Amino acid sequence: MHDDLSEILLDAAAIAGRVEQIAAELADRLAPAAERDDPVVLVPVLTGSLVFTADLIRHLPLKMRLDVVTVSSYAGRATESAGASLVGGIPTDLQGRHVVLVDDIFDTGRTLSLLDTEMRTAGAADVTSVVLLSKPARHEVELRPDLVGFEIPDAFVVGYGLDYDGLYRNLPCIGVLRPEAIG
Ligand code: 5GP
Ligand code: MG
Repeated sequence: MHDDLSEILLDAAAIAGRVEQIAAELADRLAPAAERDDPVVLVPVLTGSLVFTADLIRHLPLKMRLDVVTVSSYAGRATESAGASLVGGIPTDLQGRHVVLVDDIFDTGRTLSLLDTEMRTAGAADVTSVVLLSKPARHEVELRPDLVGFEIPDAFVVGYGLDYDGLYRNLPCIGVLRPEAIG
Protein backbone atom coordinates (compact mmCIF):
# COMPACT_ATOMS: atom_id res chain seq x y z
CA MET A 1 0.00 0.00 0.00
CA HIS A 2 2.83 2.36 0.94
CA ASP A 3 4.35 1.54 -2.47
CA ASP A 4 1.51 3.40 -4.15
CA LEU A 5 2.62 6.70 -2.56
CA SER A 6 5.06 8.98 -4.35
CA GLU A 7 5.61 11.05 -1.21
CA ILE A 8 4.69 10.96 2.47
CA LEU A 9 3.53 14.45 3.51
CA LEU A 10 2.71 13.70 7.16
CA ASP A 11 3.85 10.71 9.17
CA ALA A 12 1.90 9.17 12.02
CA ALA A 13 3.87 10.99 14.72
CA ALA A 14 3.37 14.42 13.12
CA ILE A 15 -0.35 13.77 12.80
CA ALA A 16 -0.68 12.54 16.39
CA GLY A 17 1.14 15.60 17.76
CA ARG A 18 -1.01 18.02 15.83
CA VAL A 19 -4.25 16.22 16.69
CA GLU A 20 -3.44 16.69 20.38
CA GLN A 21 -2.85 20.42 19.82
CA ILE A 22 -6.11 20.80 17.90
CA ALA A 23 -7.98 19.00 20.68
CA ALA A 24 -6.49 21.40 23.24
CA GLU A 25 -7.52 24.43 21.16
CA LEU A 26 -11.00 23.03 20.64
CA ALA A 27 -11.36 22.24 24.34
CA ASP A 28 -10.45 25.87 25.15
CA ARG A 29 -13.09 27.14 22.72
CA LEU A 30 -15.75 24.84 24.10
CA ALA A 31 -14.84 25.31 27.77
CA PRO A 32 -17.39 28.10 28.44
CA ALA A 33 -20.22 26.02 26.97
CA ALA A 34 -19.07 22.90 28.81
CA GLU A 35 -18.90 24.82 32.10
CA ARG A 36 -22.48 25.99 31.62
CA ASP A 37 -23.40 22.38 30.85
CA ASP A 38 -24.64 23.49 27.42
CA PRO A 39 -25.01 20.61 25.01
CA VAL A 40 -22.04 20.14 22.66
CA VAL A 41 -22.47 17.92 19.62
CA LEU A 42 -19.62 16.84 17.36
CA VAL A 43 -20.72 16.20 13.80
CA PRO A 44 -18.12 14.17 11.86
CA VAL A 45 -18.48 14.05 8.09
CA LEU A 46 -18.35 10.42 6.97
CA THR A 47 -16.35 8.58 5.89
CA GLY A 48 -13.09 10.48 5.58
CA SER A 49 -13.08 12.06 9.05
CA LEU A 50 -13.58 8.77 10.87
CA VAL A 51 -9.94 8.21 11.85
CA PHE A 52 -9.32 11.87 12.71
CA THR A 53 -12.48 12.01 14.83
CA ALA A 54 -11.62 8.83 16.69
CA ASP A 55 -8.23 10.25 17.69
CA LEU A 56 -9.51 13.77 18.36
CA ILE A 57 -12.31 12.89 20.76
CA ARG A 58 -10.04 10.84 22.99
CA HIS A 59 -8.15 14.06 23.74
CA LEU A 60 -11.34 16.03 24.46
CA PRO A 61 -12.28 15.79 28.12
CA LEU A 62 -15.75 17.30 27.65
CA LYS A 63 -19.31 16.06 27.84
CA MET A 64 -20.38 15.75 24.22
CA ARG A 65 -22.50 13.82 21.80
CA LEU A 66 -21.51 12.45 18.39
CA ASP A 67 -23.91 12.61 15.47
CA VAL A 68 -22.54 11.82 12.00
CA VAL A 69 -23.52 13.20 8.60
CA THR A 70 -22.77 11.98 5.11
CA VAL A 71 -22.00 14.31 2.24
CA SER A 72 -21.34 13.14 -1.24
CA SER A 73 -18.80 15.22 -3.15
CA TYR A 74 -17.16 12.82 -5.55
CA ALA A 75 -18.66 10.93 -8.47
CA GLY A 76 -17.16 7.45 -8.88
CA ARG A 77 -13.39 7.31 -9.10
CA ALA A 78 -12.78 10.94 -9.92
CA THR A 79 -10.25 12.82 -7.81
CA GLU A 80 -11.90 16.15 -8.43
CA SER A 81 -14.69 17.50 -6.27
CA ALA A 82 -17.97 18.10 -8.09
CA GLY A 83 -19.88 20.01 -5.46
CA ALA A 84 -21.51 18.74 -2.30
CA SER A 85 -24.88 17.27 -1.48
CA LEU A 86 -26.26 15.81 1.74
CA VAL A 87 -26.95 12.08 1.76
CA GLY A 88 -29.65 11.31 4.28
CA GLY A 89 -30.53 13.97 6.80
CA ILE A 90 -28.82 16.10 9.37
CA PRO A 91 -28.96 15.31 13.09
CA THR A 92 -32.28 16.14 14.73
CA ASP A 93 -32.59 18.39 17.75
CA LEU A 94 -29.74 20.81 17.00
CA GLN A 95 -31.67 23.72 18.47
CA GLY A 96 -29.44 25.66 20.87
CA ARG A 97 -26.55 23.24 20.59
CA HIS A 98 -22.88 24.05 20.14
CA VAL A 99 -22.08 22.19 16.95
CA VAL A 100 -18.56 21.18 15.95
CA LEU A 101 -18.22 20.05 12.33
CA VAL A 102 -15.27 17.71 11.84
CA ASP A 103 -13.93 16.89 8.40
CA ASP A 104 -10.78 15.35 7.00
CA ILE A 105 -9.95 18.03 4.44
CA PHE A 106 -11.14 21.46 3.36
CA ASP A 107 -10.68 21.45 -0.39
CA THR A 108 -13.10 23.68 -2.33
CA GLY A 109 -14.92 24.20 0.97
CA ARG A 110 -18.31 23.33 -0.47
CA THR A 111 -18.89 20.46 1.94
CA LEU A 112 -18.36 22.50 5.09
CA SER A 113 -20.06 25.55 3.69
CA LEU A 114 -23.18 23.49 2.98
CA LEU A 115 -23.09 21.89 6.43
CA ASP A 116 -22.45 25.19 8.22
CA THR A 117 -25.59 26.61 6.61
CA GLU A 118 -27.62 23.49 7.42
CA MET A 119 -26.57 23.52 11.09
CA ARG A 120 -27.36 27.21 11.51
CA THR A 121 -30.71 26.79 9.77
CA ALA A 122 -31.46 23.94 12.18
CA GLY A 123 -31.00 26.37 15.08
CA ALA A 124 -27.47 25.60 16.34
CA ALA A 125 -26.31 28.15 18.93
CA ASP A 126 -22.95 28.26 17.15
CA VAL A 127 -21.00 26.22 14.64
CA THR A 128 -17.26 25.59 14.89
CA SER A 129 -15.50 23.78 12.06
CA VAL A 130 -12.38 21.68 12.48
CA VAL A 131 -10.44 20.08 9.66
CA LEU A 132 -7.22 18.10 9.69
CA LEU A 133 -6.07 19.31 6.27
CA SER A 134 -6.69 22.34 4.09
CA LYS A 135 -5.67 23.12 0.50
CA PRO A 136 -5.61 26.94 0.33
CA ALA A 137 -5.05 26.92 -3.45
CA ARG A 138 -8.45 25.28 -3.99
CA HIS A 139 -10.85 27.24 -1.79
CA GLU A 140 -14.01 28.41 -3.57
CA VAL A 141 -16.23 29.59 -0.72
CA GLU A 142 -16.17 32.41 1.82
CA LEU A 143 -16.22 30.20 4.88
CA ARG A 144 -12.88 29.30 6.48
CA PRO A 145 -12.51 26.51 9.04
CA ASP A 146 -11.96 27.68 12.63
CA LEU A 147 -9.23 25.13 13.26
CA VAL A 148 -6.89 23.62 10.65
CA GLY A 149 -4.35 20.91 11.35
CA PHE A 150 -2.10 21.32 8.33
CA GLU A 151 -2.14 23.35 5.14
CA ILE A 152 -1.04 21.20 2.23
CA PRO A 153 -0.28 21.80 -1.46
CA ASP A 154 -2.82 21.10 -4.18
CA ALA A 155 -2.26 17.35 -4.54
CA PHE A 156 -4.60 14.41 -4.11
CA VAL A 157 -3.74 12.78 -0.79
CA VAL A 158 -4.75 9.52 0.88
CA GLY A 159 -4.34 7.85 4.26
CA TYR A 160 -5.51 8.47 7.84
CA GLY A 161 -9.13 8.17 6.73
CA LEU A 162 -8.77 9.70 3.27
CA ASP A 163 -9.43 7.32 0.40
CA TYR A 164 -8.98 6.82 -3.27
CA ASP A 165 -11.81 4.69 -4.65
CA GLY A 166 -12.49 3.42 -1.13
CA LEU A 167 -8.89 2.31 -0.52
CA TYR A 168 -5.96 3.57 1.61
CA ARG A 169 -8.06 4.86 4.54
CA ASN A 170 -6.13 2.59 6.92
CA LEU A 171 -2.69 4.03 6.10
CA PRO A 172 -1.34 5.59 9.33
CA CYS A 173 0.36 8.41 7.37
CA ILE A 174 -0.90 10.89 4.76
CA GLY A 175 0.72 10.84 1.34
CA VAL A 176 0.40 11.63 -2.33
CA LEU A 177 -0.70 8.83 -4.64
CA ARG A 178 1.51 7.93 -7.57
CA PRO A 179 -0.21 8.77 -10.88
CA GLU A 180 0.07 5.06 -11.83
CA ALA A 181 -2.09 4.15 -8.81
CA ILE A 182 -4.93 6.32 -10.10
CA GLY A 183 -6.71 4.09 -12.56
P1 5GP B 1 -14.73 20.11 -0.60
O1 5GP B 1 -16.23 20.08 -0.50
O2 5GP B 1 -14.06 20.96 0.43
O3 5GP B 1 -14.25 20.42 -1.99
O4 5GP B 1 -14.26 18.64 -0.43
C1 5GP B 1 -14.20 18.07 0.78
C2 5GP B 1 -14.22 16.56 0.62
O5 5GP B 1 -13.60 16.14 -0.60
C3 5GP B 1 -13.42 15.97 1.73
O6 5GP B 1 -14.24 15.67 2.84
C4 5GP B 1 -12.85 14.72 1.09
O7 5GP B 1 -13.75 13.68 1.27
C5 5GP B 1 -12.75 15.05 -0.38
N1 5GP B 1 -11.37 15.44 -0.77
C6 5GP B 1 -10.91 16.66 -1.09
N2 5GP B 1 -9.61 16.65 -1.38
C7 5GP B 1 -9.20 15.37 -1.21
C8 5GP B 1 -7.93 14.70 -1.33
O8 5GP B 1 -6.87 15.27 -1.64
N3 5GP B 1 -7.94 13.37 -1.08
C9 5GP B 1 -9.06 12.68 -0.72
N4 5GP B 1 -8.93 11.38 -0.51
N5 5GP B 1 -10.26 13.28 -0.59
C10 5GP B 1 -10.33 14.61 -0.83
MG1 MG C 1 -15.40 13.94 2.93
